[in-house]
Amino acid sequence: MPALFLILIYFFTFGCKVNTPENIKKDVPSTHDKKTPIVFDVIMIRSFPKLGTFWPAEMPEFVFCKSSGISRERANQGVFYWKNLGYPITNVRYIEDGPECRNINTYGKIIIKLIDNTVPINSNLSVTQVSFYRDSKQIQSATIYLISAYADKPRLIEHEIGHALGWKHYNRRNHVMNPEYSRTGFDYEGLEYVEYQTQSIDFFKN
Ligand SMILES: [Zn+2]
Repeated sequence: MPALFLILIYFFTFGCKVNTPENIKKDVPSTHDKKTPIVFDVIMIRSFPKLGTFWPAEMPEFVFCKSSGISRERANQGVFYWKNLGYPITNVRYIEDGPECRNINTYGKIIIKLIDNTVPINSNLSVTQVSFYRDSKQIQSATIYLISAYADKPRLIEHEIGHALGWKHYNRRNHVMNPEYSRTGFDYEGLEYVEYQTQSIDFFKN
């Protein structure tokens, strides 16, 4: 029986901070980066989004709990974003309440629910927890915790679904998996389902 490894993997960092001069200052690369800008660029061009964990075989069921604050429209848009990249997502529910919203019967599902005091939110807009088998990296379940006031923000649910599917952060401006909200966009390069399958197969080989 493989050990189930529950880990808090992903944070949506820096929340909805606007780029005040103070924040821009924080974005300035370190002295080291400034000295070697070309090397840094080369690394960025050759990099691509990476899967940290994955759903084996079938896509999970999506369960949106209304109490999370997300609207039905934004929930549908978020799912459609990934379906449009080829992900064969077929089972999506938007519910008033259900056992999944109380952390029961979550196996094989991505649950979208309201943040609670068991999850450290820090300065993030939302948090996604992925539980997976440590050795095989196969995901067992995932939960996206939302703050109701921010639940409908553009690109937020798209980003968190990316984590719930297994994608890590990808540090390129305007990419949907950029870790900093103000730098996210709808660029999805490298996230297509064919790429997901290719990287999933690589987990089996290792
Ligand atoms: Zn993130």
